[in-house]
Amino acid sequence: MHERFHVTADVLIDGSGAPPLREAALLVEEGRIARVGAAFAAPEGVRSIRVGTLLPGLINLHVHIEMAGESDTWATTRRKDAEGALAGAYQAAKTLRAGITTVRDLGSKGCVAVALRDAVDRGELPGPRILTAGVMLTMTGGHGWPIARETDGPWDARKAVREMLKAGANCIKMMATGGVLTPGVQPGNAQLEEEEMAAAIHEAHKAGVHCASHAIGTQGIKNALRAGIDSVEHGHLLDDEAIALFKERGARLVPTLAALQCIVDHAEDGGMPDFVVAKARALMADAFDNIRKAHRSGVEIVGGSDAGTPFNYHERYCYELELMVRELGMTPVEAIHASTARSADFLRISEIGRLEVGKAADLLGVRGDASSRITALADVALVARGGILAVG
Ligand SMILES: [Zn+2]
Repeated sequence: MHERFHVTADVLIDGSGAPPLREAALLVEEGRIARVGAAFAAPEGVRSIRVGTLLPGLINLHVHIEMAGESDTWATTRRKDAEGALAGAYQAAKTLRAGITTVRDLGSKGCVAVALRDAVDRGELPGPRILTAGVMLTMTGGHGWPIARETDGPWDARKAVREMLKAGANCIKMMATGGVLTPGVQPGNAQLEEEEMAAAIHEAHKAGVHCASHAIGTQGIKNALRAGIDSVEHGHLLDDEAIALFKERGARLVPTLAALQCIVDHAEDGGMPDFVVAKARALMADAFDNIRKAHRSGVEIVGGSDAGTPFNYHERYCYELELMVRELGMTPVEAIHASTARSADFLRISEIGRLEVGKAADLLGVRGDASSRITALADVALVARGGILAVG
C-alpha cells in the first residue's frame, strides 16, 4: 500500500553531489517524490516524520545476496541452492532495513538471486530492487568455480552468456583474475583471456545487458578493460596504464574496499581459512594507494562493497562509504553521490538515486548529520522503497 507522508530533515543530501540543503522537506505521494526542497509544512492530515539527514536509498553495486558474511565462504559454496535462496531472502530483508534500496548481485549459486528478485518484485518478500548476474562465468578451475559456470574459449563464453540471459540475468559477471576466497588461485594472475571476455561482452551488449568483471591483478584488469567491460570489480593492483584505459573506455571502478578491510579487521577472530587472510593482507599493502590514485586521476568510482564476503555484512554497507571517506579522501557528500546518483546513472535506471520530483521515493533517513560525519548512516530512522515504508 502506497502511503502519503512528509519528511522534514535538518540536512538533505539529494544524491547529485550538490552541497547539502539545511532545513528541508520532502513529500511522498503514490510511491514518488511529489515535492522536495526548503522546509514546507505537511499537508492537512498527512503524517510527518523528522530525521537528521535525508538522502536517496543507497545502491550497492556489488553484493552476493545469498552469502551472509560467513567467515568461511568456501564452506558456503557446498550449500544446496534451496538453502542459498532462503538465506538470500533473509539478507534481502536486512539489506532493505539498512536503507540499501537497490543492489546488484554479482553471482549466486544456481541463479537463486533471479528467483529472489522476482519474489521481491511480486511483493512476496521484503527486499531492495535486485539486479542480478545469475551465475558468474569463470574459466575451468578459475576463481569461484564451485558456484560458477565454467567456460573456455570465445564461443563457449558466448553460450554461457546466452544461458544467463535465458535464465533471466540483468547483467553478466566474469572472472578476469584469481581471487582471495578460492583456494589454489592467485589474485594477481590473469584468468579468462581478453578474447573470451570480448566474446562474452559482445553477446551481452547485443542484448542491452552490461558486464562486470572481477579483476584484481594488473594484467587481468587491462584484459577486461580492453575487452570492453563496463565495470571492474576490486581493481586493486591497477597501474597507470589501467587508469588510462579506464578513462579512455569510460569503465567504472567498484573498489569494494570493505571486502579487504573486513578480512584484515577480523584476521584474528578465527574461522577464516589461512589462505584468505594471507592473500588479503598481501593485497592490502598496495590496494588502497592504487585506488586512491585512480580516484584522484579521475577514474569514475561507484559504490559496491562485495557484501556477503567474510564479516562484510549486507546491512553494513555504510562501512564502504566510511572507507571511501577515510581511505580515498572523498567528502561524505561525494561518497553518497558515488553510491546513489552515480550508481543509478551507471545502471541506467533514471527513477532512482536522486531526491527529485517524479523519482521513485527510495529514501534513507538517519539521525545525525551525515554530511559532516559519514558514520551517521548507520543510525537508520527511516527507509522507504517506492514510497513504501520499511522503517519509520
Ligand atoms: Zn564479489
